[in-house]
Amino acid sequence: MTDFTMEKGADGVAVITWDVKARSMNVLTREAYALVDQLVDDALGDPGVKGIVLTSGKDTFAGGMDLNTLASISAEAGDDPAQALFDFTMGGHRVLRKLERAGMDAKTNKGGKPVAVAITGTCAGIGTEIALACHRRFMADNPKAKIGLPEILVGLFPGGGGTTRYSRMVGAMAAAPVLLEGKMLDPKSAKAAGLIDEVVAPDALLARAKEWVLSATDAEIVKPWDVKGWKMPGGAPYHPAGFMTFVGASAMINGKTKGVYPAAKALLSSVYEGALVDFDTALKIEARWFTHILMHPSSSAMIRSLFLNKEALEKGANRPALPDQKVTKLGVIGAGMMGAGIAYVSANAGIEVVLIDAAQEAADRGKAHAESILDKGMKRGKVSPEKKAQVLDRIHATTDYAALAGCDLIVEAVFEDVGVKAEVTRKVLAAVHPDCIFATNTSTLPIGELAKASDSPEQFIGIHFFSPVDKMALVEIIRGAKTGDRAVAKALDFVRQIRKTPIVVNDARFFYANRCIIPYINEGIRMVAEGVAPALIENAAKLVGMPLGPLQLVDETSIDLGVKIARATKAAMGEDYPDDAVDEVLFWMADQGRMGRKAKAGFYAYDDAGKRQGLWEGLAARYPLAKEQPDLVQVQHRLLFIQTLEAVRALEQGVLTDIREGDVGAILGWGFAPWSGGPFSWVDMLGTPYAAERCDDLAAAYGARFACPALLREMGDKGQSFYGRFGTKSQAA
Ligand code: NAD
Repeated sequence: MTDFTMEKGADGVAVITWDVKARSMNVLTREAYALVDQLVDDALGDPGVKGIVLTSGKDTFAGGMDLNTLASISAEAGDDPAQALFDFTMGGHRVLRKLERAGMDAKTNKGGKPVAVAITGTCAGIGTEIALACHRRFMADNPKAKIGLPEILVGLFPGGGGTTRYSRMVGAMAAAPVLLEGKMLDPKSAKAAGLIDEVVAPDALLARAKEWVLSATDAEIVKPWDVKGWKMPGGAPYHPAGFMTFVGASAMINGKTKGVYPAAKALLSSVYEGALVDFDTALKIEARWFTHILMHPSSSAMIRSLFLNKEALEKGANRPALPDQKVTKLGVIGAGMMGAGIAYVSANAGIEVVLIDAAQEAADRGKAHAESILDKGMKRGKVSPEKKAQVLDRIHATTDYAALAGCDLIVEAVFEDVGVKAEVTRKVLAAVHPDCIFATNTSTLPIGELAKASDSPEQFIGIHFFSPVDKMALVEIIRGAKTGDRAVAKALDFVRQIRKTPIVVNDARFFYANRCIIPYINEGIRMVAEGVAPALIENAAKLVGMPLGPLQLVDETSIDLGVKIARATKAAMGEDYPDDAVDEVLFWMADQGRMGRKAKAGFYAYDDAGKRQGLWEGLAARYPLAKEQPDLVQVQHRLLFIQTLEAVRALEQGVLTDIREGDVGAILGWGFAPWSGGPFSWVDMLGTPYAAERCDDLAAAYGARFACPALLREMGDKGQSFYGRFGTKSQAA
């Protein structure tokens, strides 16, 4: 174990260097924590050592805790994982507390050894928590480097002392952006936020830290909370100002999380309760809340989907074993909303792009879209003028198909029409090398059907982006019946280049994401027809963690698109079409000209500037409220089950081949209640026997669309869970 090494210099400074050789970023393991403990003991006990500098052997400082470590502690703990996790957390507190007290006298606070941290670059999670335990923090002046505590974003909160230390340093209110929102800050902002003390030129970093260590006085190394009479900045809970802070924070958290994200609440409880006691007791309280969160099914499901499995998919968990298929020159056909976005994200990732449309004007408009995104980035100080010029230089907007020569991947994003797409496909294939992979960004048309326009269907694939392309993290790759492995590998390598998260699904109506989200919208609209209060529908969705209620969602995507999809689906399904009750409402809305947000009129009312004003009251004239309204949970179950059952059917029918993709795709693609970890994780939380039973109740009350899929029935009968049956060992966080 050499994750940490210590070198004692002739100047009396012991430099502890963190460098995990096997990883590109330092992450902390159980064994490494024990090693830090030994090194700290050694340095503090050695009379030749005057002080300590902690630094990294890499140009980044730390990526955080190895989340697999936490999973393995709980897995190995037998009957009492909570105790094992609590003991581990308290063990960490003891090490960092020892570093913080640095051998000083408990009463006089004198005689300790100064400890500085020299943060070479990006520093997250436990890395930041270790830094906060040091006496002074120096960070290299690299605007690309970020420091922060992003645990909340994966369903945890900083449990290595960071919550207690940082809230006591700056006060509960000021700590909120870092602790509650997980904001990562560049060095200058981090200094302003009190996370670090000095920003130093990278080559002077270590020398400056050593210089400080050798000159620091006793008083400079005592933490404020270890001085008698310390008071919490901004006020503790029973102080008038503190009272206001905590009441406000509590309301804010409940407003933002709708009560479904336990970590944010646990974090606030930890700060609140901790602020009422001495520092060491506060750490113990933090450890208890942290253990509570680690044991919470929502947190482990979020970690599994949003961290472990997301990363596994990005690293190519389902990539065919073929040599690297990195894209060097991309052709994008159709410079509309999607094509322009795809051109931008690709050029931004360093790929040469030929952007083609039928008219030069349209192609130029597509490039101008990229420019407008870059301009916004410049306004926020994220994009330099040079970067903007480089990215735009990579986009060649034209009508000339000959410019596609040398492209190794094409993404077609023209109108959603089989004939138009077929014509474009043939024109492209005549212009490119026979090895070029052809992808379509269709959202509804079967890949097998579109592939008929190509003589090489094995090189034909779906790469389905979500709108807006520059913001949405998911890309759905669709494998047609004849699509070959090289096309899949190419699509996956492309998605990795543009730093998005891929899922790979098989060809079927609406693929995976749209297959699940359309029924969600339809269920909401169906309830309107039944006389369920629209406010109940929308709030039930939000209170169960959906980012948008179904009525708001259809307003955003537009009623006319809904009508178009409904007509096409009905034409394809004929007699079997199940959604006439939905269409009644949808078509009536379209007749009223209420096309959604773009028309400033939909299920919601909008002001002249297009700002949503509240639900449209006129709806009640046509669809009066039923006398008896369903209870909240019933509405929530309708809205979640309708999506979840589609996900289960997609797995049953082989459209999905990996439940990890089903869960990650659902959260990133359409925001399926992220606290649940995704539809499969949600069913596992409910338990398959109960889920199957609920299907029977819902089917009896509302119809066959809730009928329990055979797979779920069988799993319920056997008492199996999805992750138990379909997950690999490493997925079971
Ligand atoms: P859009 O109407 O904004 O853009 C289509 C572009 O294709 C237009 O600029 C048009 O001039 C161009 N075009 C049409 N025929 C052409 C031809 N023969 N040759 C060259 N260019 C031609 O549409 P969009 O929203 O960008 O959608 C494009 C594709 O992406 C569709 O297949 C759509 O289903 C799919 N898609 C859309 C979304 C979405 O949210 N809008 C999401 C995922 C996928």
